[in-house]
Amino acid sequence: MIRTENLEKHFGKLHVLKGVNTSFSGGEVVSVIGPNGSGKTTLIKSILGMVVADKGKIYFDNKDVANDFSYRHHIGYMPQIGRYPENMKMGQLFSMMKDLRKSSSTLDEELMNEFQLKTMFDKPMRTLSGGTTQKVSAALAFLFNPKVLILDEPTAGLDPLASEILKAKILKAKSEGKLVIVTSHIMSEVEEMADKIMYLFEGNIYFYKTITELKTETGEEKLGKAIAKIMTQQAHA
Ligand code: ADP
Ligand code: MG
Repeated sequence: MIRTENLEKHFGKLHVLKGVNTSFSGGEVVSVIGPNGSGKTTLIKSILGMVVADKGKIYFDNKDVANDFSYRHHIGYMPQIGRYPENMKMGQLFSMMKDLRKSSSTLDEELMNEFQLKTMFDKPMRTLSGGTTQKVSAALAFLFNPKVLILDEPTAGLDPLASEILKAKILKAKSEGKLVIVTSHIMSEVEEMADKIMYLFEGNIYFYKTITELKTETGEEKLGKAIAKIMTQQAHA
């Protein structure tokens, strides 16, 4: 569904993506992990066209996205930090997004309902807690029923119940054949949701494997331990 070829990005002298070659298919949840600053958000934003890569290509359904931005309608994006017009009320935000999108796809208001956001529609965005803002971002990402979801640290700041609701929604999207790319720092959560793990390290893919592969190759039952083992093995190789 999505493929990158030799994606490179510099911010000034900082070489943030060093030729990332990868692909993502429908019906899977891919967890992108790696230390802070390893390039996860930059990779995601490049795929979304929010960051322009210096080199390389991105294909969506085998089409080079360079000259045609329409692929973005197929992606629902939940940013790491959602920023919204401060004085806009939550309800206005949802109506504005619907107006802007004029999408013909059926709306998916499941998350909006499960998070009970309607009860807060008259609240200005600036008055919302971080967690509630995250719920709004998540509900918006799923609203237009996109076939790809890109979620940047979606559960950071969510309360436990909201996290469970979102995780269930992610698994449901996967069962419907959608592609979900999600960054996270929480190993238990990665283990619950992901089929594959992409480990980014200093702008390169360190490994990109299924959870099963990681566990069998290392002989470790716990994902966190399996990853630690691979990291130390490679460091000593
Ligand atoms: P991650 O999401 O893995 O924590 P990022 O992709 O956000 O990492 O950032 C990778 C590196 O690029 C970091 O060193 C970060 O400070 C830098 N960076 C990210 N965005 C910008 C930007 N717009 N301008 C300058 N440096 C940036
Ligand atoms: Mg990030």
